[in-house]
Amino acid sequence: MYRTIILALGLFMYAQLGVAQLQINKPKTIYLTLDDGPSGSLTEQFLDLFDQYAVKATFYHMGKKATHQISLCKKIISKGHEIGNHSWTHRKLTELSEAEVREELISFQDLYMQQLNYQPATFRAPFLKTNAFIDGLVDSLGMTNHKINAYARDAKPKVEVEIVVNHLSDLNGEKVVILCHERPHTLNALKSLLPMWKDMGYEFKALGDDRQ
Ligand SMILES: [Zn+2]
Repeated sequence: MYRTIILALGLFMYAQLGVAQLQINKPKTIYLTLDDGPSGSLTEQFLDLFDQYAVKATFYHMGKKATHQISLCKKIISKGHEIGNHSWTHRKLTELSEAEVREELISFQDLYMQQLNYQPATFRAPFLKTNAFIDGLVDSLGMTNHKINAYARDAKPKVEVEIVVNHLSDLNGEKVVILCHERPHTLNALKSLLPMWKDMGYEFKALGDDRQ
């Protein structure tokens, strides 16, 4: 009887150990994405924080904002982050004509190509609103529209830092694409979240880091 119990206990502990081992070995990656920049000195603060935690991230810019901040864009790229196309003016693309949508996307690509010799390879639709025409155009411009599986709910100008932290504390999965915005409350939330995620075993990559 005792032998059976000890054997069962031993098997149980072995199984637990096996599970723990598996969790340690599996790489877990966070793809942090920040929309609606560049934002001048606020962006600089994100960059400093990311340096501190060896974070590579993806910045979804608006072309009309970037056009006045080319040296900041250059800095973002030089630090190994990725810049994605979030349209020129951030209008709802599904409500525009095909010619207007083309203009929104292509003028963005042209700016980065001409000013920085950089070809954005990822796209995120403003308000996440897209349709078959937009999807086809994104594809023909050599961009990918990555799916999101976590959202900070941080878009409004003022959100409590704790609310952002709460939305993003409990992450699941091996590959988590997080939608955030360049906002002061998001910066402050990330100051708590980055060390927490690091302790959970996550590493941080830009969306293009997996491309060969
Ligand atoms: Zn946006």
